[in-house]
Amino acid sequence: SGHGADHPRKKPRLSAPAGSSSSSTSKDASIQEQRKELPIYTGKDAIVDIIRENDVTVLIGETGSGKTTQVPQYLLESGLAGSGMIAVTQPRKVAATSLAARVATEQDTSVGGLVGYSVRFDEACSPETRIKYVTDGMLVRELLGDPLLSRYSVIIVDEAHERTLRTDLLIANLKTIQQVRNAPADAKGKASAAKLSPLKVVIMSATLEAEKFSKFYNNAKIVYVKGRQHPVTIYHTSQSQPDYVDAALRTFFQIHTDRPQGDVLIFLPGQEDIESLEKSIQLYANQLPKDVPGVLICPMYAALPPSQQSKIFSPTPSGMRKCILATNIAETSITIPGIKYVIDTGKCKEKRYVARQAGTGFDTLLTRDITQSSAVQRAGRAGREGSGYCFRLYTEESFRKMPVTAEPEIRRCTLTSSMLQLKCLGQNFEELEFMDKPDEETVVAALKTLFLLGALDNHRGLTPLGRQMAAFPLEPPFARALVASIELGCTAEVLSIISVLSASSHLFVDTTEARDAAADARRKFRHLSGDHLTVLNVVRAYEEVAASESKAGRRDWCRKMFLNERCLAEAMNIRAQLRDVCTRMKIDWRASAGDNEGPVLKALLQGLVLNTAFLRPDGSYKQVMGPSVVKIHPSSSLADKKMPAIFYDELVYTTHVYARGVSTVPKSFIAEIPVFRLRTAA
Ligand code: ADP
Ligand code: MG
Repeated sequence: SGHGADHPRKKPRLSAPAGSSSSSTSKDASIQEQRKELPIYTGKDAIVDIIRENDVTVLIGETGSGKTTQVPQYLLESGLAGSGMIAVTQPRKVAATSLAARVATEQDTSVGGLVGYSVRFDEACSPETRIKYVTDGMLVRELLGDPLLSRYSVIIVDEAHERTLRTDLLIANLKTIQQVRNAPADAKGKASAAKLSPLKVVIMSATLEAEKFSKFYNNAKIVYVKGRQHPVTIYHTSQSQPDYVDAALRTFFQIHTDRPQGDVLIFLPGQEDIESLEKSIQLYANQLPKDVPGVLICPMYAALPPSQQSKIFSPTPSGMRKCILATNIAETSITIPGIKYVIDTGKCKEKRYVARQAGTGFDTLLTRDITQSSAVQRAGRAGREGSGYCFRLYTEESFRKMPVTAEPEIRRCTLTSSMLQLKCLGQNFEELEFMDKPDEETVVAALKTLFLLGALDNHRGLTPLGRQMAAFPLEPPFARALVASIELGCTAEVLSIISVLSASSHLFVDTTEARDAAADARRKFRHLSGDHLTVLNVVRAYEEVAASESKAGRRDWCRKMFLNERCLAEAMNIRAQLRDVCTRMKIDWRASAGDNEGPVLKALLQGLVLNTAFLRPDGSYKQVMGPSVVKIHPSSSLADKKMPAIFYDELVYTTHVYARGVSTVPKSFIAEIPVFRLRTAA
């Protein structure tokens, strides 16, 4: 298709025949009625006209008004998209897949047909696909194979207010693409552009930052969709609640026993808190007296498997109360019907660049206070269908002290991966026009990291190695390890390990109840060199079990071994995708070093070369490329061990700085690794 290795495997989940969308009689009548009741429906013709007349349109409308699900359908049905595709970007994977499923249903097809999605490591598209929900990261990746996004006639940048790094990259690139594709015919210099249709850009958001987007696109047209918001009564606590999970638990049962019918939505920062609150609520719900309604708990977070997402949208069974435990995904990107009560812990997780002083540095997820704009959005979720209530688990004073809006990611995250992609497009961070410019320091750190990984030469130019790395949908360190494995003849092993490390949950189940049993089970897989080869041992054992056991047998085995089966299943899927990429690039992914672990460690070390530390006389470790003194995380198979040098997957900041996912650097490699040489020379 000309997009080379940048595309994951196609997975058409077939679909009604093309053209079936026009036979509206066959569509589910009640769903078509629902579509017509959405606030955006009355503005349908006006919206289509405005988009037709303008290159860029900024569309602002209350969450739940129908922007994300309806606008792409209006554009398709009006013929405005011509023969091109309509892309709708989402910052989050779950939002892209679940919205595609919804819109496919509205079009009376199955997902992967007329309506599809494309997210990292998963795609459901076919030649009939005309509306495609994509993560902003996947569309940036498509730029690498198709710099003018020639397959698309409309790009809808949704949830633009979140200002993720990828969204900002797209916003910048769309401006330059339009300069080529939308220039008057006689001015179209490039032959390739001459036959391309103009590109329409629609920026959508639920919050009122419209002017900034409009200004960036030379005063683009702004359209406001009127929402239907009912009054929401907001309560604050009189004191701050350090244990917000416990406070949420108590508040939920107060609502459940005292308040009339209506579902509850609880906002929590992340998956761990969601899982722990889910357990507690279940425990108490089981002990409720017979005359109190039952509780149906629905978790919602990024790593939740699609099969479990649908129950969130299904009607609450009578005599039950639904309790949804969600991250900020439910703030604006997904609208859940039936919510009357919102409990807001006031917390979220945010990606943030740390160790600036190190010169290189990386992102870490930190739990922090939300912004006022988030708090307002969260409360709003209670008032979509009638008047509602929002219980904030923080004081009114804390609310007033919150920042009004969040800082865009480009100002607070590492730029390494994006910089590599821009380099492949022949662009530089320093020169591209952004809505907000990144920090000079962060740009320099990214340049340095890419240089140390061998992706850039000392004139900041892309190396062939860098281009090869960018072809993999992986973070640069993992991509570097994979490329190294080719030469070292251990691609099979490295693929297995980085697939597990790229999964969205951890491999080992952390349990406090059965710590000894878990440690016993883990010992069976332990490899002397550390966690990476321990992971490999687990994958090998899992493959054997998977080959002989039923699904239930596999689950049972994982439970007994204290392994997270979801992580393993996801990793196997990721590995299959990466193998496909290798096949397309004519790389032998079967190449194995057998029982020789040296090459595997060496390949991983090439990628994680910036994550290395040396033992100090007092038993602690000192980062090679940064100022921190680190300890080996207690979960590591090397915890409490002393090795001359270690490399690790990540640092976690709690009471100490801990290195997680640790392996020893074999002595014989120390001299071969550039940063070690640098250190030895210094
Ligand atoms: P907006 O983008 O303006 O926030 P959406 O287009 O996402 O609004 O949502 C419009 C309506 O579609 C909402 O009422 C929402 O409840 C409904 N909806 C969205 N996704 C689903 C789904 N997966 N299942 C059922 N209803 C859905
Ligand atoms: Mg939306």
